[in-house]
Amino acid sequence: MKIIMLGAPGAGKGTQAKKIAAKYEIPHISTGDIFRANIKNGTELGKKAKTYMDQGLLVPDELVVDLVVDRVQQEDCKNGYVLDGFPRTIPQAESLDAALEKLGEKIDYAVNVEVPDENIINRMGGRRACVGCGATYHVVYNPTKVEGVCDACGEKLILRDDDKPETVQKRLTVYHDQTQPLIDYYKKSGVLRDVDGTVDMDDVFAAIVDILGA
Ligand code: ADP
Ligand code: ADP
Ligand code: ZN
Repeated sequence: MKIIMLGAPGAGKGTQAKKIAAKYEIPHISTGDIFRANIKNGTELGKKAKTYMDQGLLVPDELVVDLVVDRVQQEDCKNGYVLDGFPRTIPQAESLDAALEKLGEKIDYAVNVEVPDENIINRMGGRRACVGCGATYHVVYNPTKVEGVCDACGEKLILRDDDKPETVQKRLTVYHDQTQPLIDYYKKSGVLRDVDGTVDMDDVFAAIVDILGA
């Protein structure tokens, strides 16, 4: 099963993608996580990506498309995958479709997690990310057992630089301009499925399982 997660920054794509990956035993591929790992390791790609990410802008298509197209052809992707944070522009979606077509494959579902902008600012301010394993929490909606410490690996939690309110506002504008058009794109190809992202995370997941099949 090949799945794309759509939705504004903070809609809960990562949260749901992790649950999907665990239940259906397919890899979770997050381009944001890939860039953050590259930044942490000081790679050339990381250095280039960081200048855009810090401003709340998208990394240019040419830095992300080949990376994802290569990733989805790896052995662990043969039974499918869940893409989180990619595609984010129409050209990215077209490049992915073209690459999949060459392989005789296609996307099965584009799950669109709907959350209004008003809720997003709140969510991002409370999001905490683990510096060790990348796990994501929320100070109110999904707290850790010990404040500031990752349940999964024991490392400390941080507020991502790009989750500060000024940058979140910019990322929302970028989302509406560049990423939201993908909703129509996938509606036209018949794979779009909308879910209400404002309800409790377990209820969002239940709605997704209804779509994907138990
Ligand atoms: P969020 O989880 O809030 O939606 P991500 O972790 O997916 O954010 O992405 C963080 C940043 O990484 C984005 O703001 C953007 O700068 C960059 N990025 C991630 N994926 C892409 C992509 N497919 N195209 C361009 N930039 C990307
Ligand atoms: P995205 O990957 O779309 O940027 P995340 O999955 O990282 O979004 O979620 C953003 C923040 O909101 C995180 O702190 C997460 O714990 C929290 N969150 C996710 N889903 C929900 C939900 N249904 N209700 C409340 N908070 C949520
Ligand atoms: Zn951790």
